[in-house]
This record gives sequence, C-alpha cells and structure tokens, in this order.
Amino acid sequence: FPSHDTTHELATERAQKEFVSLASHQLRTPITSIKWNAEIILSNNIVDKEVKLAANDIYKEGIRMEKLVNSLLNLSRIDLGTIKFNIQELYLDKYTEEISQTLKPEINEKNLSFETDIKFKNPIKNDPVYLDIILTNILYNAIKYTNTNGIIRLKADIIPDKEKVLITISDTGIGIPQSQQSQIFSRLFRADNAKNSHTDGNGLGLYVVKKLIELMNGNVWFESQENKGTTFL
Ligand code: ADP
Repeated sequence: FPSHDTTHELATERAQKEFVSLASHQLRTPITSIKWNAEIILSNNIVDKEVKLAANDIYKEGIRMEKLVNSLLNLSRIDLGTIKFNIQELYLDKYTEEISQTLKPEINEKNLSFETDIKFKNPIKNDPVYLDIILTNILYNAIKYTNTNGIIRLKADIIPDKEKVLITISDTGIGIPQSQQSQIFSRLFRADNAKNSHTDGNGLGLYVVKKLIELMNGNVWFESQENKGTTFL
C-alpha cells in the first residue's frame, strides 16, 4: 500500500497536471482572438506598411503560442489519462489532402514539393482528431527541418495479415545526428542541428506523437541521415 506521503505526492502531481490542462485550455480563447485581430489588420489595405509588419509578427507569434498550448494540452491529456478515441472510418486520400491544404502556406513559403501515394482505396478506422495531431506534427517537422526546394513524401500501404496501415513520411531535410537519435522521442529534446537551424520548437511534438500512437496500439520509428533526410514510419 502506498504510504500517506506517496498518496499526498500523487495528489499534488495530479493537481499540477490538471492545472496545466486548465491553463492551456483557458489560453486558447485569447490566442485565437489575438490571431483573429492580427488577421483583420493584415487584410486592411489602408494601414501603413509598418503596422502591417507589426501585425504579421503578432500573427506569427500567435501561431507559435497556439502550437505550444496545443502541445501542452495534449501532453496533459496523455498524463491525466483522459484521452478517449472516437473511432471513425477515414478515407486516407481525402483525409491527407485536407491536412496538406492546411500546411500549404508553409509548403509554398519554402517552395517544397509535397507528394502523396496512398496505395489502397478502403477506409481505415481511426480517430480523426488524434490522427490529425500525429500526422500534422510529423509533417510540420518535415517542413520545418527541410531547406527550400526539398521534397516531402507521404505514403500509405496496408501491412498484409496484420490489419494495420503503414504510413511513411519522408523528407530531404537536415536529418537527425546519429549520436542523438536515441533521444528524439524524449520530452523537450531537440537535436543540436535543429537548434542551430533557426527554427523554433519545444521538443514536445514527437513525445506526444509516440504516446498517442502507443495508445492506438501502433508503433512509430524513423530512419535518418544527417544532411540527407529523415523518414518517419
Ligand atoms: P520540435 O518542436 O523541436 O520540432 P519535436 O518533438 O517535434 O520538437 O521533435 C524533436 C526533435 O526531433 C526536433 O527538435 C529535431 O531535432 C528532431 N526532428 C524531428 N523531426 C525531424 C525531421 N523531419 N528532420 C530532422 N530532425 C527532426
């Protein structure tokens, strides 16, 4: 039986996790409002160039905050064990097309080419919200860590006999240094080349991805060569 102290410690830990959950939830509304108002200024043709540049900064920082808060929210859901999957039938070709639409601005900004290859037509069974979080995190990393004119490929195939789907996302980016590959799924970890690449990140994404995939009884791993590219499977 846990001693009184351990019970107390567990309660404090849970209260802390619940606080993170509550705080990140509460932060979503103001962040949406900040982004929304920055967008209004950006779409106004009368305001000065300087004001627009400032509004653009506000918008970009808003997106950054939104990403962090979403990661924290997912993290606390995982920690608190409150994730419940809502399994639906998903047509991967249409589903990935929608995801790629939301990533279009980032893809175009770096002049990347994005290729998809879905090898089957039947729907898969998964949770649309959490699968989106997983794929968006991996795709967003692929975009972020790939230099201009690179290629990002998303491929999906059925694993025979196992009733599972293998999704592969590969890029032609900076890669992950061999010596740091074992740490890549750790909470808050960022590889040295990523930190030096003028990208921002919080090292929470892949931790969340791995935990979610494990909750779905799946596996995630990767192959990578520095300066050549990375493939997540
Ligand atoms: P971050 O917010 O730093 O991107 P993640 O948890 O999503 O955090 O990823 C952890 C680390 O894994 C990154 O900081 C980076 O070092 C490495 N990484 C992830 N995806 C890629 C990729 N496609 N190419 C190169 N490095 C990657």
